Amino acid sequence: MAGNWKMYKTAAETSAFLEKLRPMVAGVSHAEVVICPTFVNLPAAIDATRSTAIEVGAQNVFWLKEGAYTGEVSAPMLAAVGCRWVIIGHSERRQYFGETDESVFKKTVAALEAGLKPIVCVGERLEERESGTTETVLSTQFAGGIGGLAPEQFARIVIAYEPVWAIGTGKTATPEIAAAAHRFLRSEVRTRFGADAGAACRILYGGSVKPDNIKGLMAQPDIDGALVGGASLDPASFASIVNF
Ligand code: PEP
Repeated sequence: MAGNWKMYKTAAETSAFLEKLRPMVAGVSHAEVVICPTFVNLPAAIDATRSTAIEVGAQNVFWLKEGAYTGEVSAPMLAAVGCRWVIIGHSERRQYFGETDESVFKKTVAALEAGLKPIVCVGERLEERESGTTETVLSTQFAGGIGGLAPEQFARIVIAYEPVWAIGTGKTATPEIAAAAHRFLRSEVRTRFGADAGAACRILYGGSVKPDNIKGLMAQPDIDGALVGGASLDPASFASIVNF
């Protein structure tokens, strides 16, 4: 269960949130709990989660280790600060910052080399769903973003299916719509990486997940967890999603 905080919260707000969240998820053993704040708030989040089961992730990473790339942050830098996870290819990064399947692939490889666990996002836009090309879009994003990984690299990633029309819109995909996309993605995994990888691979759903719809989504066998935006900004709301 991962919370994507996007561009919200200061360092003080990050610490205060985690102080409240800690006891609410202290007994959780059915899920890994991950919070992804902005880069500048990673140290505050890592400090506030020391000796707890809550792990911290970044929302982006650059694919080179170091160099003259003003404004970028590398995977070894994230690992050195104590970050364990990184979201890659979020639709907002694809839409506003020119991220492509090619950059997703390079970032995923770089994250894995630094020992980070990538959460790689895929998902169709509304017009793609309406024109019946959802599976083609998912297949293309899968092939370009993660299909080229070696099997041992693929085993260390998590996929997040996030239909763009459901992100931040309050329009969740129904459990059946989400499950159909997850089934399709799992079949892509099986075709490319084999049956065992298909069974082992974790696919999160993201798109207006809330405390009142998480149960229905998690009841679907191919939905293994959630990537939560807006509803992860409040500790009680995120905790009730984690403790669905
Ligand atoms: C997200 O940011 O990945 C997301 C799914 O956002 P929201 O839950 O707000 O739709």
